[in-house]
Amino acid sequence: MSSTACAAAERVSLQSLTSYQPTAVKAALEQLLEPLGGIRQFVKPGRKVLLKPNLLAGKPPEKAVTTHPEIVRAVIELLQAAGGIVSVGDSPGIGSPENVARKSGILDVIEATGAHFARFETSVKIRPRGGTFQELEIAQDILDADIIINLPKLKTHQMMGLTCAVKNMFGAVVGLRKPRLHLQAGTDKSFFALMLLELCEQLAPTLNIVDAVIGMEGEGPGSGTPVQLGTLLAGSNAQAVDTVATELVGMQPHQVWTQRKALDTDRPYTRIAQLELLGTSLEELRVDNFRPAKTTDVNFGLKGPLKNYLRHSITARPVVDPNLCRLCNDCVTHCPPEAMKIENQRLQIDYDRCIRCFCCQELCPHGALFTRQGLLLKLHSFLHGKL
Ligand code: SF4
Ligand code: SF4
Repeated sequence: MSSTACAAAERVSLQSLTSYQPTAVKAALEQLLEPLGGIRQFVKPGRKVLLKPNLLAGKPPEKAVTTHPEIVRAVIELLQAAGGIVSVGDSPGIGSPENVARKSGILDVIEATGAHFARFETSVKIRPRGGTFQELEIAQDILDADIIINLPKLKTHQMMGLTCAVKNMFGAVVGLRKPRLHLQAGTDKSFFALMLLELCEQLAPTLNIVDAVIGMEGEGPGSGTPVQLGTLLAGSNAQAVDTVATELVGMQPHQVWTQRKALDTDRPYTRIAQLELLGTSLEELRVDNFRPAKTTDVNFGLKGPLKNYLRHSITARPVVDPNLCRLCNDCVTHCPPEAMKIENQRLQIDYDRCIRCFCCQELCPHGALFTRQGLLLKLHSFLHGKL
């Protein structure tokens, strides 16, 4: 994708869908894609297609952590009818791909449809065309596909604000290489957002279909509250789809770090006015009172040593609930800067080392980590009516 402020209108389709009842999903999916030319516009017979759902963690579909299996099923069946050879894969944050896919209901769908399960076991280095990152490591399965179809779930995200089409492609990075990229970005969300944008642009999914039927609000992407959003979205440009998704839930572009970085770097399709919206009208689908993740930082205009000095007051931080923590050590092994340890039968966090990536909260299988806002943040939220 080239950077230009004068891009032609990009098409994004929206469709109302209020349940995961299989025949309703199939009908809505066909209606969603029809204004874009139908699935055959994107897939020709014999082409190898990789579906990339959100397989963050092994949670059942009703938790809204992963892409719903009925969406995955309907897309597989549509692709197979068009002659595509379908694989489904993602690299979960924690746990084996098999376990996560089984618990989320997606492995059953893969087996029932005869699709191939891509385990994302092998990682290869790629050199992005231009951009900031000299080298990125991604799953070989992604490179083996002729076409990538991105199937994100629309959820809040503690670090990035929202996770949708752009952020979902981070799953192309295999296993523990993800924390390494978090560590490289450190506390700089803007830098991390840029990496996400460049990765998604490099992989360039042919089609993005968003499961926003039941999404997640609050402490997403792993521990938030499922919420009825009632919408499917689709488009061939991930950035354009995210622009509409942000608008759908009533968030501002500056609250979503990938949107904010895309605007700052003059990328196309960051404004609704640059898009052609098709299908059900956005006005009809717009979600009221969507609850964002707690603000994890605020730029008070402070710089350098003063900002560092006040860091604990300014930024939110992960806090453990000892009653829920089972001392399983999963967060400890995945914390990018090794800021966590279990000592004296308690989980301890070194907040001087913590980079506020919220990987621990995202990955905790027992929902034992929550976000505590600093005092200045609470004051900021109060003054802006967000408490
Ligand atoms: S906080 Fe969660 S992931 Fe970490 S040790 Fe406790 S139960 Fe395990
Ligand atoms: S403690 Fe949690 S939020 Fe802090 S760096 Fe480790 S994983 Fe990230």
